[in-house]
Amino acid sequence: MNYDKNNIFAKILRGDIPCTKVFENEYSLAFKDISPQAKIHVLVIPKGAYTDIDDFYTNASEKEIISFSNAVREVLMLTGVSQNSGGKGFRAIANTGPDGIQEVPHFHLHILGGENLGLRGLRKA
Ligand code: AMP
Repeated sequence: MNYDKNNIFAKILRGDIPCTKVFENEYSLAFKDISPQAKIHVLVIPKGAYTDIDDFYTNASEKEIISFSNAVREVLMLTGVSQNSGGKGFRAIANTGPDGIQEVPHFHLHILGGENLGLRGLRKA
């Protein structure tokens, strides 16, 4: 699948539209979801042009993959959802492709938490 340079997260990365930043490192950015499905709803994205999780883990460099993993870890700590730092857990979701009902074609990992989630994030209207 070709990468669409005009998708909304590409625009955020270019600084064309704002985001509420939670964490940033060399190859990754984390920001609050604009339409939160839980008390905590953060999206972690690579800065590189990858359409989905499959594209990312197939084509990203080791540095990008390590950076992304570190960013996820930082978000879990910063938001307090990590059970390793007294939190009560979370849900991490990467909707992918048409069957996964992915809306924004730039790889992003949803981190949902801060409350009991029930089935939130697993169902879409
Ligand atoms: P998905 O269905 O997995 O592609 O999820 C896309 C997510 O991006 C949704 O949860 C949207 O609420 C979120 N979203 C869309 N536009 C923005 C934006 N400008 N800033 C933050 N989150 C956004």
